[in-house]
Amino acid sequence: MTPPRKLHIKSYGCQMNVYDAQRMADTLAPEGYVETASVEDADLVILNTCHIREKASEKVYSELGRLRAAKDQAARDGRGMSVVVAGCVAQAEGEEIIRRAPVVDVVVGPQSYHHLPQLLLRAKTDGRALETEFPIADKFGFLPQPSRQAIRSRGISAFVTVQEGCDKFCTFCVVPYTRGAEASRPVAKIIEDVERLAGNGVREITLIGQNVNAYHGDGPDGQPWPFGKLLYRLAEIPGIVRLRYSTSHPRDVEDSLIDAHRDLDALMPFVHLPVQSGSDRILAAMNRRHTADDYRRVIDRFRHVRPDIAFSSDFIVGFPGETEEDFAATLALVDQIGYAAAYSFKYSPRPGTPAAEMQETVSTADMDERLVRLQNLIDSQQSAFNRTALGKTVDVLFDRAGRKPGQIAGRTPYLQPAHVNASDAIIGQVLPVTMASLERYSLFGTLASMPAFRAQLNDAAPAGAQFQTTAGV
Ligand code: SAM
Ligand code: SF4
Repeated sequence: MTPPRKLHIKSYGCQMNVYDAQRMADTLAPEGYVETASVEDADLVILNTCHIREKASEKVYSELGRLRAAKDQAARDGRGMSVVVAGCVAQAEGEEIIRRAPVVDVVVGPQSYHHLPQLLLRAKTDGRALETEFPIADKFGFLPQPSRQAIRSRGISAFVTVQEGCDKFCTFCVVPYTRGAEASRPVAKIIEDVERLAGNGVREITLIGQNVNAYHGDGPDGQPWPFGKLLYRLAEIPGIVRLRYSTSHPRDVEDSLIDAHRDLDALMPFVHLPVQSGSDRILAAMNRRHTADDYRRVIDRFRHVRPDIAFSSDFIVGFPGETEEDFAATLALVDQIGYAAAYSFKYSPRPGTPAAEMQETVSTADMDERLVRLQNLIDSQQSAFNRTALGKTVDVLFDRAGRKPGQIAGRTPYLQPAHVNASDAIIGQVLPVTMASLERYSLFGTLASMPAFRAQLNDAAPAGAQFQTTAGV
């Protein structure tokens, strides 16, 4: 029997890339590849790249420099090592990658990685292989399903892509050029994926897409289903106790999604809703096609049906032409919304995007200074939000052993890490935890006794209502 070949995948960037990396491993498993954490003893190394900001792209070239040394060493040891560049840098730069880094054997864009086995063969015969087309046929139809073993080894939370690409063309963003046009997977395929994951112990699903709530996949009734309708259907699948989604766009928040937040216990009350800026002038220059007030109204619609909902967001500081006044409008919006978390980035001009041609650039010093002010504000909101959990009893989905012996870790509905001392038998269960302390972003508590938890909820509930626990999957 030939020994298994070893595969090392390093993924950069968004959740979509984490998911794609898993699917590449699934595609290569029938070829005899098993994953290894070490680059040095890998037969195949894949860099699954991100092109969203300049820094992310440049990381790839420094990593390729290090890989050249590893490949040379492998050759001295009498074995081969193949190097693949996949993902959005591969899509955006194509042949340029091989020119700059001859260590690379295969360049493959995000829509073509189901062809990896053939591309590796082609590289063996031709020396190099490159595929960065946007094929007509959807790659999902060709990807092998993950094995039971692979699903189990990846834990109780899983990503499922429901939508890819983007037609919004925000002026700063490369995604429409690297991931292609917006496309939704059919409802039946998504149900199949989620049922398979649930059948193998997955308890939490995060539906992912560049604009996940623009979802409009074909339903079994022959009609396009809006995103909310998909959520209702997935919530019926036995074993799935938590549903999340990312990333959503404020312009695509349909009533079906709001209704789903009102009705579905499994749908977590934590929404990532990027706004980028609080200034209408900058939002227009970004081609976001909504105002700050439109965004506030969307937030209000969520809060109206789910008062305990919390939000995170993305912000860009130093977009071309951003004045101190524009930036003050961003701070005012953050102040008003009150976020549980948020990501903020310095604007990074991306070749080929309209914003990269804009002349009124903001100085690095101003960008740095604004980023610090924004991050300080977000940090203080996040800490305040985390402190509100103290003394409360909160549902936690336990998913892993904690760092200290005897400790088990999980996540609250708001994705806060939470820890208790307990047996690992609780992994995979949602249990109430009374939160006692907070260390930076992590909560620590004790498992609440179920009757005490019920009493607490019934005290808070309207007269006549009785709490039904969902704990203990
Ligand atoms: N589709 C999502 C949306 O509409 O908000 C965002 C997807 S993008 C992969 C993730 C985040 O990267 C964006 O929300 C934005 O804040 C940031 N980003 C994208 N292009 C950027 C650029 N050129 N410079 C800095 N940040 C950027
Ligand atoms: Fe990029 Fe999101 Fe804008 Fe699409 S909607 S162009 S993914 S920032």
